[in-house]
Amino acid sequence: MTRHRSLALTLLIALLPLNAVALEVVATLPDLGALARAVGGADAKVTVLASHRQDPHYVDPRPSLMLPLRSAQLLVVNGLQLEQGWLPPLIRGARNPRVQVGTQGYLDASFFVQRLQVPTARVSRAMGDVHPGGNPHFTHDPRQGARIATALGQRMAQLDPAHAKGYLARAKALATRLNALASRQRARFAKLPAAKRKVVSYHRSLTYLYACLGLTEVTTVEPRPGIPPSPGHTAKVLTTMRQTGARVIAQESFYPRRVSQTLARLAKGRVVVLPGGAGPKETYEARVMRGVEALHAALAR
Ligand SMILES: [Zn+2]
Repeated sequence: MTRHRSLALTLLIALLPLNAVALEVVATLPDLGALARAVGGADAKVTVLASHRQDPHYVDPRPSLMLPLRSAQLLVVNGLQLEQGWLPPLIRGARNPRVQVGTQGYLDASFFVQRLQVPTARVSRAMGDVHPGGNPHFTHDPRQGARIATALGQRMAQLDPAHAKGYLARAKALATRLNALASRQRARFAKLPAAKRKVVSYHRSLTYLYACLGLTEVTTVEPRPGIPPSPGHTAKVLTTMRQTGARVIAQESFYPRRVSQTLARLAKGRVVVLPGGAGPKETYEARVMRGVEALHAALAR
């Protein structure tokens, strides 16, 4: 009898972690999902809405994306209007009061980062797809990733107090690693000759990464955010590349490459394709390093 009881107890304990209810987290974008996975550990189940191959400005709000939102306890969004074209109908359709804007279950990552390129003049349509609150592409910068990790740890601890210690410890360790990574890479890029620390981007989405690494963006292939390059603008980009000596055009995998490749050929430079976000099984750190290595290799050549 006693033996049976202890066996039953052993079995129960062995099964417990499987049955323990994990905090249900939904992240809009892959980088936010990777950060949430690292902070959540085994205590959270994280679903990501957009793929790392998708341009985060334009995601198809298909109804299947509503499903994970229905039962979510925490929704992590980028903010600064990056998801404004597709997220609001999903949140409305999910009818889950726990993750509505302004609730504890809604975490806007942009509240926790150091924003860049906040427009000082009033934003008009003529300026292109400019975000009035500032440039929304901050997850490329591991220092901003560290801030988001810290915010995630605190919010998860509030929502799931039983596992608070774990969330806070993982967040702290991750933030420390990310800040160390940023310092190491900044020092490494500083060793490149000044002439090689100049970059052209396709979209104005790598600003935070350049700020982290001490690089200068001389111009963008897009004349204004979200506006495709015209022949006139392309000619200006080429002139700028020749005048400044910038030879590397950097862009995420989901932006068109034809114009960039033509420019690179004419300026005797190269196009470097950076990850648009963490892959489904990739850590945020690995994803950041994948981009940093590609950029360093292109600039050092
Ligand atoms: Zn953008």
